Amino acid sequence: MTTQSAMPALAVRDLRKTYGNGVEALKGVSLEVAEGDFFALLGPNGAGKSTLIGIVSSLVNMSGGEAKVFGVDIARDRSAAMRLIGLVPQEINFNMFEKPYDILVNSAGFYGIPRDEACKRAKQYLDQMQLGAKAQQPSRTLSGGMKRRLMIARALMHRPKLLILDEPTAGVDIEIRRSMWRFIEQANAEGTTVILTTHYLEEAEQLCRNIAIIDHGRIIEHSSMKSLLSKLDVEGFVLDLADNLSGEPPAVPGVELKRRDAHTLELDMPRDTDLNRVFAALHDAGIVVRSMRNKTNRLEELFMRLTGDPNKEAAA
Ligand code: ADP
Ligand code: MG
Repeated sequence: MTTQSAMPALAVRDLRKTYGNGVEALKGVSLEVAEGDFFALLGPNGAGKSTLIGIVSSLVNMSGGEAKVFGVDIARDRSAAMRLIGLVPQEINFNMFEKPYDILVNSAGFYGIPRDEACKRAKQYLDQMQLGAKAQQPSRTLSGGMKRRLMIARALMHRPKLLILDEPTAGVDIEIRRSMWRFIEQANAEGTTVILTTHYLEEAEQLCRNIAIIDHGRIIEHSSMKSLLSKLDVEGFVLDLADNLSGEPPAVPGVELKRRDAHTLELDMPRDTDLNRVFAALHDAGIVVRSMRNKTNRLEELFMRLTGDPNKEAAA
């Protein structure tokens, strides 16, 4: 990262926030997100994620520190920084009586985009987000998933270089989530830097290349997804068996192999163990494995260990 010469999309240094009620939400946060990255900001509830995002997008005043968006200091040139950012806030915040089409066109107008160009983009995004049929209905008639998609479309209307999404898929069902991610991945492939917070750690593991974990207002991890996951020293697997197993599975030194039920085994093993040894022992015992999967999501396991927070929603 240090050899990188390009301007980071986001550079935050020693950021602090103390709210009026005395809550210290950020206690000196430093963070860098490279241009073009797909970056996950994770942490339990109350960790400071939305506060950090709020400061970067000029909705919350910082108490101390510095934040730059593509080199633009948000304290010195707020409006230039805002033009570079598209924000999808945690709470739905458009006017429920306005129509989706108008919400998009007005947002573009706010950023000074000419009206005919704004109309063109609005149509395009409404189609891509499968909102075309709802374009001229009051937005209160949209389903929860449609409202979320409209928020994403609105954030993209001024073609920001940095798209920030604060729990965009909370409460959105799996199919809609997938189509949202395809859309966001496409924006990322076209060069938009993406930062997201999410409670769905599996989603973060699949989508994001780099990650920071924030806890109690401090960054406790900041690395690539790959190197973070490699810290997980024990992995758990579930093995589905072809035939019913009446007795116990064979003992394999160095790993824990347990019978869960007649056709399922559980395997816990240190990361540096040779998986072939386990399969050789199973083979010798005449046990045929049909399929295998991770017992829990790996990122989730790490997250719980690092933050010590069982974070109910993370397990959802
Ligand atoms: P997250 O998004 O990670 O759940 P937040 O940034 O929303 O965390 O909150 C961080 C901390 O700041 C929490 O303790 C929260 O209660 C507090 N907080 C957030 N917003 C405000 C506010 N407007 N006034 C006072 N305290 C706040
Ligand atoms: Mg939040």
